[in-house]
Amino acid sequence: MELNEQNIGCPYCGETISVLIDRQEAGTQYIEDCQVCCRPIVFQISEDMSSNLVVTVCCEDDVV
Ligand SMILES: [Zn+2]
Repeated sequence: MELNEQNIGCPYCGETISVLIDRQEAGTQYIEDCQVCCRPIVFQISEDMSSNLVVTVCCEDDVV
């Protein structure tokens, strides 16, 4: 199993958070509370053309 560490910025407070992403999570999305401001961050995991894992974060309000 391959874990990738990625740094993202909290969409609410801007704090940098490191997350561990499992390659099997590509194409999925999940919600995890920010460790700093405790608001729910939506993580979307995808793969780019070179099979690199890409993590996109957004506010819960942006997700329909
Ligand atoms: Zn935050």
